[in-house]
Amino acid sequence: MTKNNVALLGATGSIGRSATVVLSCYKERFNVPLVAARSSIKELAACAKELNSAMALTTDKAFYSELSAALPQGTAALSGMEKLIEVVSSDQVDTVLCAIIGTAGIRPVLAAIEAGKTIALASKEVMVSAGELVNAALKANPQARLIPVDSEHSGVFQSLAGRAKNEVETIILTASGGPFRTWSAERIASATLAEALNHPTWSMGKKITIDSASMMNKALELVEARYLFEEYNAKLDVLVHPQSAVHALIELTDGSLIAQCAITDMKLPIAYALTYPERVTLPAAKLSLAEMGKLEFFAPDRKRFPAFDFAYAAVESGGTLPCAMNAANEVAVERFCAGEITFGSIYRIIDKVMSDWHNEPQKSLEQLDAADAEARSKAREVKL
Ligand code: NDP
Ligand code: MG
Repeated sequence: MTKNNVALLGATGSIGRSATVVLSCYKERFNVPLVAARSSIKELAACAKELNSAMALTTDKAFYSELSAALPQGTAALSGMEKLIEVVSSDQVDTVLCAIIGTAGIRPVLAAIEAGKTIALASKEVMVSAGELVNAALKANPQARLIPVDSEHSGVFQSLAGRAKNEVETIILTASGGPFRTWSAERIASATLAEALNHPTWSMGKKITIDSASMMNKALELVEARYLFEEYNAKLDVLVHPQSAVHALIELTDGSLIAQCAITDMKLPIAYALTYPERVTLPAAKLSLAEMGKLEFFAPDRKRFPAFDFAYAAVESGGTLPCAMNAANEVAVERFCAGEITFGSIYRIIDKVMSDWHNEPQKSLEQLDAADAEARSKAREVKL
């Protein structure tokens, strides 16, 4: 079997660690020439050793000498975003697994598309902030393909396999409901950081865990779905499903619902994106519906969770508004984690930035950088 040469970006994070397990389980299938991250240098060096990588890269040049000293013999130290773009576009790489948090993944993903690579995409901010540019790049480079890793979108992707575009009426993402699912609006507004980090079903990075509590994660995912599955022109919906066994459903024109179910373990969607269209046996538990007993579904409460209003506004308008929503949310979450604002103020900040936004269609990366910077500075200035 010819090995798939995978570049792992965001190797030291929550997804990066799960990806390392998958990649090291299937050494006969994968070669990992490059692992990349930013500041967790010890972890990056350990990952390079585990995956026997020829190159390890930090995007922050200030960490270069620390990385160089930490790496095992046989692994070259590299640094900087330009170098990352050069390597992911080169013949050394077939597949780019992008799990960099935030918008720093946009440039390497666009470069990989232009070089005709396969992209396994975990970084939802790439589609949220730059979905129009990514889709234009995919159209211009038909040999490139993009496979979602986010669990709900992997569920949609798996359910859509082989379906005619006009058969799909609605794409439905599920949401666990997070730790505040049954809380009153007043109690949510004054929730503490520890309460927001107490996710009932998934173990993830800190930022996405807080987004799950505010439902901004689902808002970002609705926009992500709008761009990932644009060609289906389907309605987008969310079902709150506390057991997190069903990750997504699609509703067909005859009313049939096709669902994808599995345990809550990101190794599954990561492995599927890396081996698609094949499947492998994974060292993970299997879902037992009999043990689970009951599955519940509820309509989301848009009054207690205004994130859905933001999401549908961003989905409908497109352009730079989703980028502004994402940037405003990132700043609001930072301010909440710093103890500067209440949990309820996260919504007020996003609302203010989005309501004042002058929207325009996506044209260039420079335009998106400027929109991102403007939304961040506005989000920092919102008086509460
Ligand atoms: P983490 O915070 O755990 O990890 C983030 C990773 O990104 C780290 O490896 C970090 O490197 C790297 N990183 C951050 N900034 C840069 C940069 N400028 N250049 C290079 N690398 C950078 O995040 P998660 O793993 O939780 O999430 C990663 C992405 O996957 C996010 O977009 C998230 O929304 C998405 N996702 C995550 C899920 C999960 O279960 N965690 C589920 C679905 C989607 P370092 O630590 O070295 O600085
Ligand atoms: Mg998800």
